[in-house]
Amino acid sequence: MSNLLEKLLVERDWLLADGATGTNLFNMGLTAGDAPELWNDTAPEKIRKLYSGAVDSGSDIFLTNTFGGNASRMKLHDAQSRVFELNKKGAEIGREIADASGRQVVVAGSVGPTGDIMAPMGSLTFDSAVEMFHEQAEGLKAGGADVAWVETISAPEEFQAAARAFELAELPWAGTMSFDTAGRTMMGMTSRDMVAMVEKLPNAPLAFGANCGVGASDLLRTVLGFAASTPQLPVIAKGNAGIPKYVDGHIHYDGTPELMGQYAVLARNCGAKIIGGCCGTMPEHLVAMRAALENTPKSAAPSLDEITAVLGGFSSASDGLGDNEPAPTRRNRRKRA
Ligand SMILES: [Zn+2]
Repeated sequence: MSNLLEKLLVERDWLLADGATGTNLFNMGLTAGDAPELWNDTAPEKIRKLYSGAVDSGSDIFLTNTFGGNASRMKLHDAQSRVFELNKKGAEIGREIADASGRQVVVAGSVGPTGDIMAPMGSLTFDSAVEMFHEQAEGLKAGGADVAWVETISAPEEFQAAARAFELAELPWAGTMSFDTAGRTMMGMTSRDMVAMVEKLPNAPLAFGANCGVGASDLLRTVLGFAASTPQLPVIAKGNAGIPKYVDGHIHYDGTPELMGQYAVLARNCGAKIIGGCCGTMPEHLVAMRAALENTPKSAAPSLDEITAVLGGFSSASDGLGDNEPAPTRRNRRKRA
């Protein structure tokens, strides 16, 4: 077993992932419309600070600043020829911070959506998505990433394309989707659909789960949905810090460190093994999350009412799995051969 994430998943009962990338970088002066990946080259000290913020707060895993580092997204900044280089740099800085930590810390090469809509609704073919993700994965691997980590995905075909790309790059991986539309992804996937999908992928991830979406409550409802399908693979929970609110024209997350500590404990009780934050989650939140996980024993999964009592209400009445939804089909329930 040579992969660090695989090893830690065996050795540990839970792992703390990191928090927000965007929120931290905006605080360092990134403006909307900038490509943060360019900072891997032009402002590496800011990226070191981003990664150190997570590692010094106790994260066992952190994501690289390469979320939008695919050819389609980089083309918007006329940097599509720099995909390999910018991903390699992002991972190299990560390797440097992880190796200097004195602990075992996983460098996870972030891979976000292409930003294009998959065919037949859109123009992105499966093969071109694989090609883009593969190019990015090769850069991450060359820079020393332990794993690739695809996140915030809505379309099952795009998730599958990433899995294929990581297979081509021979890079172990993990992946999360974003359930931001009444309990489903924007493309209609439920938590149950995702478990069925990952368990039959030819190149299985080391862990899978949910990130971002709406608020932390919704994310935990999705994690309960994963657990109800009794997945074979470890589950990842990366929820936003509280509930997003519009303040002066931008999104603000109101979750306090204390609240995120409670979220982390609830996430573990819901069945998550890798627990982190997403938008709005800062180093001080991570410190509180680590302390809460260390100081609170695992207990039974919470009810939906217990989740909302702590973290606030859900954004929708249903998680997409209710009685008014189509029943799971045999096809969906089939286990991997
Ligand atoms: Zn987020």
